[in-house]
Amino acid sequence: MLTTAPRGTRDILPEEAAKWRYLEDNIRECCRLYGYGELRPPLFEHTELFQRSVGEATDIVEKEMYTFEDRGGRSITLRPEATASTVRAYLEHNLYAGPQPVKLYYMGPMFRYDRPQAGRYRQFSQFGVEAIGVQDPAIDAEVIALALDLCMHLGLKDLAVELNSIGCPTCRKEYRQALLMYLSEHKDKLCQTCLGRMERNPLRVLDCKEEGCRTLTTAVPQMLQYLCTECAEHFQALQRCLEAVGARYTLNPAMVRGLDYYTKTVFEITWSGLGAQTAICGGGRYDGLVEECGGPPTPGVGFAMGLDRLLLALEQSGVTLPTASKPAVYITTVSKDDNQEAFTLLTTLRRAGISADKDYRQASLRAQLKAANRSGCHFAIIVGGEELERGAVAVRNMISGEQKEVKQEQLIEVLYESLKEDAR
Ligand code: ATP
Ligand code: MG
Repeated sequence: MLTTAPRGTRDILPEEAAKWRYLEDNIRECCRLYGYGELRPPLFEHTELFQRSVGEATDIVEKEMYTFEDRGGRSITLRPEATASTVRAYLEHNLYAGPQPVKLYYMGPMFRYDRPQAGRYRQFSQFGVEAIGVQDPAIDAEVIALALDLCMHLGLKDLAVELNSIGCPTCRKEYRQALLMYLSEHKDKLCQTCLGRMERNPLRVLDCKEEGCRTLTTAVPQMLQYLCTECAEHFQALQRCLEAVGARYTLNPAMVRGLDYYTKTVFEITWSGLGAQTAICGGGRYDGLVEECGGPPTPGVGFAMGLDRLLLALEQSGVTLPTASKPAVYITTVSKDDNQEAFTLLTTLRRAGISADKDYRQASLRAQLKAANRSGCHFAIIVGGEELERGAVAVRNMISGEQKEVKQEQLIEVLYESLKEDAR
């Protein structure tokens, strides 16, 4: 127990972390291009925030949250998603009083008591964007385009965008009636949870993963047929915007998504190579959420992208990702007596901005040079012997194998030049 991380969590070691940093750098650049500013909300919130926003009848609130009482007797939940926190921050800092829309992105760990398997963990990472304060269907298209541009830039091909509209409270009322009628005729096929959901939020039944409920949902009445004029026009305009920028999508009238707060647009981006976990990104519009959280009526739209799955997809599709950085210089010593000299030189190089490391094992020069080779360094420096007596060191280019003597006072200059040259 002491030597394994909790089920559903993982360590990301340096080789792997380099890939994550690459993803994160690309995400930041993409958000800069699209005009989204970074929000860093806390990792835990009051439980009530998620109950109110994500919804009581959702999988997340019903069975996936890490909830505990803190020492002050408050009910706290590790965030299972971050749209709720973003909306809370929007209200807490009166962002609705400034220019709209407020465009924010976040990135970091989320926590859900899911069943761990490839691409599904209990601590996983999401990147998400939220554009709060405008109705314009072009901004729904903007967030979808941002997600697609990011994936395309990273080199992930053959993504599928599934799109649907689940209307607004006005048109959903009528749909709810039709859906309830249909479901009550087929009660025998519904799972126990969905029987309860029927009363509280029948739309949730459409998102159930149980076999019986899924077979039902293929013949179920479709929300698209019940959209009011405003919702239908919004959905049409969104589709025209997507087509205008070459973002291909398919309509999936059965998709409702797993959170209660969505209105109008919902979408999912999938990559089929991922086996059972195909969804990389999911999002939609949430025009009632800000009000639900105690603010003024305010529209919003956004998505969350699963970075663990995105990385898996990139690796499976054969995209080359950067590896951990290697030292430019590796210092070795002729004898034990040269150790302090080597350490001083090491520190001088680092302070001059040259990445450097040394052998700390007091091994033979041969063994140290082997270690230098394994480190992937560009230059090995040998400190000691006659060279040191002459105030110099031996510098070996590990790529060409060429070795030369360099005066200590010229070393930094020589290294700068050679590193610059070889980088060309
Ligand atoms: P799923 O149906 O796979 O459980 P979801 O609908 O619960 O997904 P969202 O809440 O929409 O997922 O979260 C957005 C994205 O976050 C998902 O598309 C997925 O890439 C990622 N994600 C969600 N849950 C997990 C998890 N447990 N482990 C890894 N990634 C996850
Ligand atoms: Mg889920």
